[in-house]
Amino acid sequence: MKHAVRFLSTVVLCALTATAEERVDLDTIHRIKTEALENSKVMEHLFYLTDVYGPRVTNSPGFFAAADWVVKQLGEWGIPARLEKWGPYGHGWSYTHFSANLIEPEYAPLIGFPLAFTNGTNGPVTGELVMATLANEKDLENWKGKLRGKIVLDGSARELPLSLQPLARRYTDSDLGTLLLAPQPVPPRPNAQGNGPAGNGQPANAAANRRFQDQLAAFLREEAPAVVVRGGSGRSDDGTVFGQGGQRDPKQAPLPPMVVLTPEHYNRLVRLVDHNIPVKVEFDIETHIDDRTDSVNVIGQIDGGRKKDEVVMIGAHLDSWQGGTGATDNAAGSAVMIEAMRILKTLNLKLDRSVRIGLWSGEEEGLLGSRAYVKEHFGDRETMKLGAEQAKLSGYFNVDNGSGRIRGVYLQGNDMMRPVFDAWLKPFADMGVSTISIRNTTGTDHLSFNEVGLPGFQFIQDPLEYDSLTHHSNMDVYDHVQGGDLMQAAAIVTSVIYHAANREEMLPRPPLPKPQPPQRDGTDNRSNPPSN
Ligand SMILES: [Zn+2]
Repeated sequence: MKHAVRFLSTVVLCALTATAEERVDLDTIHRIKTEALENSKVMEHLFYLTDVYGPRVTNSPGFFAAADWVVKQLGEWGIPARLEKWGPYGHGWSYTHFSANLIEPEYAPLIGFPLAFTNGTNGPVTGELVMATLANEKDLENWKGKLRGKIVLDGSARELPLSLQPLARRYTDSDLGTLLLAPQPVPPRPNAQGNGPAGNGQPANAAANRRFQDQLAAFLREEAPAVVVRGGSGRSDDGTVFGQGGQRDPKQAPLPPMVVLTPEHYNRLVRLVDHNIPVKVEFDIETHIDDRTDSVNVIGQIDGGRKKDEVVMIGAHLDSWQGGTGATDNAAGSAVMIEAMRILKTLNLKLDRSVRIGLWSGEEEGLLGSRAYVKEHFGDRETMKLGAEQAKLSGYFNVDNGSGRIRGVYLQGNDMMRPVFDAWLKPFADMGVSTISIRNTTGTDHLSFNEVGLPGFQFIQDPLEYDSLTHHSNMDVYDHVQGGDLMQAAAIVTSVIYHAANREEMLPRPPLPKPQPPQRDGTDNRSNPPSN
């Protein structure tokens, strides 16, 4: 009897795995690899998105020009594409001139750039330098009424420790081994809806920080200093400057001029002031507020055949911050997705389901473009009221972790997708793809799909110099993108979307999430940390 039961269960198990055997088309994978590796155009796409149209701050002229270029380019390949409006986002911001110079005691150009959503100086300005750290409510009280027309050095000088670490790195086997393991479970906190006393899922410090940012913005608008100067965030040095935006409030005027400098230059100003040496600096900043308040996502589609009304999607955010040309964040991901569409079309691959590309705006301000798209087409995460299209979208694949090659994928907890990815990615093991992690990764546009119960995935990518050099910095430029890595990624994404389009079944999806309470615009990072 015992043998009969064991035999039976083995049969069932084999049956299950047999039926679940994922179909992989090696002939087509071979053709895709050949096109992606021997006839690649991915760095051409990157060139236009960066050197020609970068940076692409949402609703800035550079963003709209890049979006138009993508629509035109896809069209030239016979892929219908359009700009899909969403909004209101608010006015776009861009800058058209920036100079910062130490005039006295000796002349020196200062390396930096203006924070987004801040005003220009209306011509060159000089002014008395004041050391005024504005880090908490007490600081604001102390400096109230004392900063009008001043050039404010906000923050003390920062030690720059000697770093013996290489700037760039690739995941080691042990790094990938860690990702293979599920994270340690954390027992739920009984009293809080989320994990902060605020009870709305936001870490208390995040909520407190956002409250202070609002107070600081109101204070600066009231005080009207000539320029607020900061010395780059902790990762900055060696002329590299990391910086994003001041507080963005579509209902209010931009903030007074705010600038971030490389710490070596910022520290010199602080030391001069500390020694009571007379210092003269000059800033000349020109910024523009764009009239358009609605934004757009770029949507293109290759229609499928026998399952044409079912869709699989690839995507990346097209918008960027202003320090460099938004190369690794995220022209890299956008170029990979454009290249995947080119390869599908060039090889004229048979597609049962339609393949759709979405290049989003507003990601840096809080996944705004992809969330607007998902709400318009698939469902409302606040009520979990779903649209008819939700049942027709099989899955969404995202690239937005820099320009590193793909090493695997995050399953976002979707165990049912493990054997699917296992089969799809195995043919790329010799290109460094080995890791299927059950973990969630956050901070980018696949989350917008997960929030309404749709399978949405971000690939695991080599970190390269993303955190150490390019992510939201003035060094986020074409030269810091690894072409070979993007070619590898384009081959893999094309193969994944081809197999998803021709898979007999729709992709397995987890149960619908619970409705999520309304979220404030911008920096509110209830369901994800600040965006990638
Ligand atoms: Zn990004």
